[in-house]
Amino acid sequence: MATRCGACENTSTLHEPVTPVTQYATPELINAIAYEGHDPGADPAWAVSGAVSREEYARWCRHACGMACLRMVLTHRDGDAPPLLELLHGVRKAGGYVEQADGSVKGLIYAPFVEYVRDTHRLDAHVRTGMDTAALTQELDAGRMVIASVHKEIRRPERPAPGRGGHLVLVIGHHDGMVHFRNPSGHRPDTVTAHLPAERFAEFFAGRGIVVTPARR
Ligand SMILES: [Zn+2]
Repeated sequence: MATRCGACENTSTLHEPVTPVTQYATPELINAIAYEGHDPGADPAWAVSGAVSREEYARWCRHACGMACLRMVLTHRDGDAPPLLELLHGVRKAGGYVEQADGSVKGLIYAPFVEYVRDTHRLDAHVRTGMDTAALTQELDAGRMVIASVHKEIRRPERPAPGRGGHLVLVIGHHDGMVHFRNPSGHRPDTVTAHLPAERFAEFFAGRGIVVTPARR
């Protein structure tokens, strides 16, 4: 028996609508960014991200998959949400991203992210590890969504999975054996708004993520 989300227009185990959000300002550039060495900082639409400068957008867009997931959850619940970089500013302040001495970025760090979304957005969330497909399905059946760690090559599922984890997608439900999700770095519309057989999804899934309850309070 599925639990109703409250923010949803339907009663199935699939949240709807969930408007897709990509981590890059221009979705049409993602194929070139991912596979042709295109510089994401050269995106003419960078300002829609809410970044204070093109340099800031260029520095952070590759790390913004979790922010795109959060933006989709909040929009599902509230009808709108702050821009990506505004969310990222809050998460950074909370300790969810750490700039290392060598200039690299560590993050998204789940625990501070969870604290931030609880405190700032009143979003019920918790970290979960060791999830298999059954555990993932149980969370979805309870009306939750899962910001799930998958390999970024989940956008090309016709190829063997090169690994598990490292990139975040938003799992919004399941139906007829299919896991439905939104991929912030999908390189085509049908890989941003995507679904895969559960066993295929599992090949990319690291079993960890952040479980969120998008219901209105
Ligand atoms: Zn819902």
